[in-house]
Amino acid sequence: MLRVDLTIYDIVRIVSLENKQVEEFIDTTLARDDDPNAFRVLGKKAKFSLKQHSDASCIFLTRKKSLKCLVEDAKPAICLQYPFNLHNGQIFIRNDALCPPQNQVAVDLKKMSKKTLEDCYWEWNKHREFVADWNAITSGNESPNDFLYFSLRQLNLESYPLGSAYRKIRGLFLTHKLFSTI
Ligand code: SF4
Repeated sequence: MLRVDLTIYDIVRIVSLENKQVEEFIDTTLARDDDPNAFRVLGKKAKFSLKQHSDASCIFLTRKKSLKCLVEDAKPAICLQYPFNLHNGQIFIRNDALCPPQNQVAVDLKKMSKKTLEDCYWEWNKHREFVADWNAITSGNESPNDFLYFSLRQLNLESYPLGSAYRKIRGLFLTHKLFSTI
């Protein structure tokens, strides 16, 4: 099962809108050296991704009555944009899309908005900037927690497209009440 990589914005979104604790849902996984999302920690390259159940399905996937996402209103950008891409202002279905089935493609194309895709790209580009800045200054031996705090300090929620929804988290992370247990 594929892993869902997380940006710092995904983490803020899930904590602030879904009241989740970071240790409930974040895994720090090893990453390839040339991965632009990989930050240097503990002598390795790593990424944040969603934890998984023992069957490797997403930690937020529930099967109680039917398959359901437990963080529907705070989905990570990867989930929000899947399986679409934006190219020259046009929305496309990704070539490697595993779902939805072909008979749903036309419906889902109508549902996806260009603004949603642009916001997802914006988040990933900013996250990569934080990663690049961190990799330029770190000794390489700091912890994933240190990278998380570094990124949180770089966040400018005023310029964030979805900023108004997340400002309530600012006081929490500034007083270090979150993320203390990673
Ligand atoms: S849509 Fe929800 S359940 Fe599915 S991978 Fe994303 S967070 Fe997990």
